[in-house]
Amino acid sequence: MLPTKKHRIALISVDGDPAAEIGQEEAGGQNVYVRQVGYALAGQGWQVDMFTRQNHPEQPTIVQHEPLCRTIRLKAGPAEFIGRDNLFHHLPEFIAEFQAFQQEQGFQYPLIHTNYWLSSWVGLELKKQQPLIQLHTYHSLGAVKYSAISDIPAIASMRIAVEKACLESVDRVIATSPQEQEHMRRLVSTKGQIEIVPCGTDIDKFGFIQRSAARKELGIAPDVKMVLYVGRFDQRKGIETLVRAIAKSRLRASLRDQANLQLVIGGGYRPGHSDANECDRIASIVAELGLENCTTFPGRLDDAILPSYYAAADVCVVPSHYEPFGLVAIEAMASRTPVVASDVGGLRFTVVPEVTGLLVPPKDEVAFAAAIDRILLNSAWRDQLGEAGRQRVEIAFSWHSVASRLTQIYTHLLAPVMTSRETKPQVAA
Ligand code: UDP
Repeated sequence: MLPTKKHRIALISVDGDPAAEIGQEEAGGQNVYVRQVGYALAGQGWQVDMFTRQNHPEQPTIVQHEPLCRTIRLKAGPAEFIGRDNLFHHLPEFIAEFQAFQQEQGFQYPLIHTNYWLSSWVGLELKKQQPLIQLHTYHSLGAVKYSAISDIPAIASMRIAVEKACLESVDRVIATSPQEQEHMRRLVSTKGQIEIVPCGTDIDKFGFIQRSAARKELGIAPDVKMVLYVGRFDQRKGIETLVRAIAKSRLRASLRDQANLQLVIGGGYRPGHSDANECDRIASIVAELGLENCTTFPGRLDDAILPSYYAAADVCVVPSHYEPFGLVAIEAMASRTPVVASDVGGLRFTVVPEVTGLLVPPKDEVAFAAAIDRILLNSAWRDQLGEAGRQRVEIAFSWHSVASRLTQIYTHLLAPVMTSRETKPQVAA
């Protein structure tokens, strides 16, 4: 359903810039989600302003993506990269800048959709200052994350408290999978209203290049068995499990020419940052296991080349310790490439075992090796899994269907506000 009027709405993602290059430290699924939801909502008639924090002095303040969709970068602390765990005390400045922007433009946003807990706090504070509908997508839950790591940051208790307040008081929380909803209910609060709207993927971008053409483009021989990882370098992504699984692969042991098995680990890293440290750690495990001749690190895969990597692969592996959703799995499926993933979180929702791929216990390198081998050893089954994956994504995970569902929810929540505003046009959207 198209909105009858083009209302202005704000997507707020303080720490995840929708106009940023994706695929390196702290720039992953959240950035893609905000950008694609923004585009897709604009395609349905909304005027979408996506607010983020300026993290480089040379970044333009406004990036106009499409006539109805732009990124607006506000000042919040020094214009440099600041890790998420150190951003909280800059948020009051972000709020002041947001208010100044509204004042300058002469309107107030009637609805904001916030992303990640930092932005949820911004929304909750704004709600105290102006009439506002707030929706929120968590992208990650402190309660889940902190149960899995030992170096708990100082900000943890604040994050947990804000995530609880957010669930209990915003107008709607968007869970991206039934598994994420279940975690919210069990670990955050039983109060508050949740709707499940999955993430999506660009079904026109992925799935339009044949495996053989993609391999030609990338210089990968037709008879190579190619195993692909795509994502950030972060210990919780489980890349170590994948590397150890490759070392245990029966197929690898049986191949006379081991170069016929190729592990491609795609993702960016910045020298001096934590992702570069994780990349170095993974490279040293690769060396220790004698896998250097069959492993490549192509770096950050940009939009132009990413579809070819997915299409070229025989299997895409998502070995994360946890994922609230996991965009990489549906991108691979959209590309007709089967997925072997950890049996956790949103991956249980997207990957249908034995139909679009396989699910195995996280951190279990023996189980990963066996699952990868099963697919690599049977190319007819690989193609069947790939085709079923494509169908599943077309039906359930297009950005268009995500935006349609969000449009329904926004329209429903805005209806009473807009009716009352029609009598007060000076506050109009
Ligand atoms: N990505 C990319 N290039 C890379 C690595 C990752 O474009 O080199 C993208 C990937 O295609 C996906 C996103 O980054 O859209 C990662 O999202 P996901 O939900 O899988 O993980 P997150 O980063 O949110 O933990």
